[in-house]
Amino acid sequence: MPHFTDAGVNLTSTQFDADRDAIVTRAASQGVESMLLIGCDLQSSEYSQVLAKQYRQYATAGVHPHDAKDVPDDFIAQLRTLATQDRVVAIGECGLDFNRDYSPRPVQQLICGVQLELAQALNMPVYLHERDAFDTLSSMLDDFSLRGVLHCFTGDKRALRHYLDYGLMIGLTGWLCDERRGETLRELVRYIPEDRILLETDAPFLLPRTLKPKPKSRRNEPAYLPEIAHHVATLKNTSVSQLAQQTTENFKSLFLAHGVAG
Ligand SMILES: [Zn+2]
Repeated sequence: MPHFTDAGVNLTSTQFDADRDAIVTRAASQGVESMLLIGCDLQSSEYSQVLAKQYRQYATAGVHPHDAKDVPDDFIAQLRTLATQDRVVAIGECGLDFNRDYSPRPVQQLICGVQLELAQALNMPVYLHERDAFDTLSSMLDDFSLRGVLHCFTGDKRALRHYLDYGLMIGLTGWLCDERRGETLRELVRYIPEDRILLETDAPFLLPRTLKPKPKSRRNEPAYLPEIAHHVATLKNTSVSQLAQQTTENFKSLFLAHGVAG
């Protein structure tokens, strides 16, 4: 069985409170042995790090644009401390979301910007979220020289080209398994070099709509990553095992190349 790496799991979600161990075990039974656990605010970043130690996985530390409006005054100091803990390998999830606008845009930009600064200062990769905010985020990135991933990419060809030119990896989720919303993304996958792709479920969100039989629950989980891999492999005209191996190597070179303690 191929060894898959899920580069984005919200394992701290309350949707996993009742059966978190089983979720991790079930993922491993499908070959999903490595996971990046996403922090979205200070609390979930801290919890992700605890879970990463417990399950011998990896974590991010950051503040999502949705949560940008709620940070305490000393959040960047707290984030810096979290970011240097064992098994924390990236700053994020951070970025801009002008689709839902849960935080005012100037606040999103401020909170994103200081996290980009932190990532550069610590020489850590960024785990980026961008929805309907390409122009603003790309002009912010131009002030930095960063490694990272544009997670759950849903943009257009111009955005893809820019992010690739910048040097980012592209995170592909079950978005492309959505027959309605995923069409643009399915057409763009051919332009993403294999050594720049990361696979991620973004569980418990974005349940792949092509799963058969359809799960009773709408909850996504890392055990479903092979479904996403199957679709990407078909679009890239490669095998699932080759894609699994390549994306696992991509994950290691982006997040683990500088060594991880713990
Ligand atoms: Zn996101």
